[in-house]
Amino acid sequence: MNIVLLGGPGAGKGTQAAMLVEEFKTPHISTGDMLRAAVAAGTDLGKKAKSFMDAGELVPDDVIIGLVIDRLQEPDTDAGFILDGFPRTSAQAVALDAELGKLERPLDAALLIDVDPEVIVKRLCSRRMCRDCGFIGNESDAACPKCGGEMYQRDDDNEATVRNRLEVYEKSTSPLIDYYRGSELLVAIDGDRDPKVVYADVKEALSL
Ligand code: AMP
Repeated sequence: MNIVLLGGPGAGKGTQAAMLVEEFKTPHISTGDMLRAAVAAGTDLGKKAKSFMDAGELVPDDVIIGLVIDRLQEPDTDAGFILDGFPRTSAQAVALDAELGKLERPLDAALLIDVDPEVIVKRLCSRRMCRDCGFIGNESDAACPKCGGEMYQRDDDNEATVRNRLEVYEKSTSPLIDYYRGSELLVAIDGDRDPKVVYADVKEALSL
C-alpha cells in the first residue's frame, strides 16, 4: 500500500499509522517524527526546523520535500509506505506526485481522518508521548503503557500553538482534500471515535 494520511494536527494520523505498521509492517514516514529526531540530535536540519515547529508554522517546502524524496529512495519503501504529515502544501503534493511518477509507484489512496477542530484542541492539550517508543497517550498515562518509558508533552502541544497549527492546516493543507478528491484517491473517515473503531473503518476503506 502506498498511502498518504491527511487530517489536522491530532486527528489520529500517528495512532492509525502505528496500528497499520504493527499489522502490516509497512514503513511509516512521519515528517514530524523525522524533524523531532533532527531537533533532538541538534543537526543543521533540526536547527533550521525548530523555530517553525515551536511556533506551529510549516517548515519551508524545499527543506521538507528533499527529506521525503531521500527517504523514498530507501529500499524498504519499495513494497509500500504510509506518509504521515506529508504532503502539507500544494507544492509538496505536486512534488510527491512527480517523484512517485518517476519511481513508478503511484499512490493507492489519500486517507482523510476528519475531526472537529475543538475536539482537536482538547485532545492535543492532554496528549503525551513516550520518549522511548513514540507511543501516543494522554495525561492519564503516568508511564508508557507499552514500554514503561517516560511520557512527555510535545513543545507544540499547548493551546496557543495548537490553534495556530489548526489555522495553518485550514489555510495550507485542507486544499489538498480537493486535490486528492480530484484524482479520485480521497477516502474520508470520521476520526472522532475510539481509535480501534476508526482503525476498522480505515482497513475497510483501504480494502485491507
Ligand atoms: P506533526 O508531528 O506532523 O504534527 O508535525 C510537527 C511540526 O513539524 C509541524 O507543526 C511543522 O512545523 C513540522 N512539519 C511536519 N511535517 C511537515 C511538512 N510536511 N511540511 C512542513 N512542516 C512540517
